[in-house]
Amino acid sequence: MGPRITVIGSINMDLMTKVGTVPQQGETVLGEDFTMVPGGKGANQAVAAAKLGGDVHFIGRVGNDLYGRQLMEHMHQQGVSIDNLEPVTGFPTGIAIVLLSEQDNRIIVVQGANQAVTPAVVEMHEKVIAESEIILLQLEIPLESVQKAAELAKKNNTKVILNPAPVHFLPETLLNYIDVLTPNKHEFDQLFTKTQKQSRKSQCVITKGKDGVVFTVNDEEKTIEGYKVPVVDTTGAGDTFNGALAVAISKGKSISKACTFANAAAALSVQKLGAQAGMPNMKAVQHFIL
Ligand code: ATP
Repeated sequence: MGPRITVIGSINMDLMTKVGTVPQQGETVLGEDFTMVPGGKGANQAVAAAKLGGDVHFIGRVGNDLYGRQLMEHMHQQGVSIDNLEPVTGFPTGIAIVLLSEQDNRIIVVQGANQAVTPAVVEMHEKVIAESEIILLQLEIPLESVQKAAELAKKNNTKVILNPAPVHFLPETLLNYIDVLTPNKHEFDQLFTKTQKQSRKSQCVITKGKDGVVFTVNDEEKTIEGYKVPVVDTTGAGDTFNGALAVAISKGKSISKACTFANAAAALSVQKLGAQAGMPNMKAVQHFIL
């Protein structure tokens, strides 16, 4: 196995249905079709990295229920180590209820057991963080736990990538521990150019959808153009990008090479339906880049 990547984050079951119109107050509407798909940014990014051949470990929590068992089995099948993914009592498994309609999509997220990924839980798993080349974080677990994970990583010389989504004010104490920050355009604006005016210390990699990715090397801004591809579903493009970036950086690739690789992996993912289902393997990315 190659260098270890540990993802500390959320895992959900997404319950999706299509509706003609979204229900108004007091109204019941019929949904067409119903699908359950594994999701959560943490789980998605872990699966993306595992599909690309990474030695991926996942620290997270599910409820002691049917969805929890299904998600654990699913992660295992995708090649992610679930030694640090445990069921807890007192919380349901995290779910997202997704209403897809012509007008817009409406989503309700129940964080459930993702809230049980407390700083104490993260601390319990210090060994796996210490044995990792890199940890990959998002903001769908408590912020204090993200902070604790980053702090333990630094203490143990493990690199830290933070995908600041969903966007949230980042305290200086957290930013100081981040090696690579990966906001999308909107998150970048929220964090650095609007009211919060956060200072930027870490390497920042900004994903810009079809326009590719922008990052800085030695204060010089570089752009890698997005691939022109037939788009089927962009859900999870960012998660594929982050998982792929972690794989490349864990292997010691430069930021520029890692972004080139992740940009290609994400461009492949948008050509297929579904977040995790569209994530490519290493062979597909290598073939696409050549
Ligand atoms: P999402 O929330 O949909 O997962 P995101 O908003 O976090 O995505 P984006 O910046 O939209 O992230 O996309 C991440 C990366 O995916 C881009 O930097 C690019 O490499 C690739 N990508 C996204 N959309 C397209 C597209 N239409 N064509 C080609 N590549 C794309």
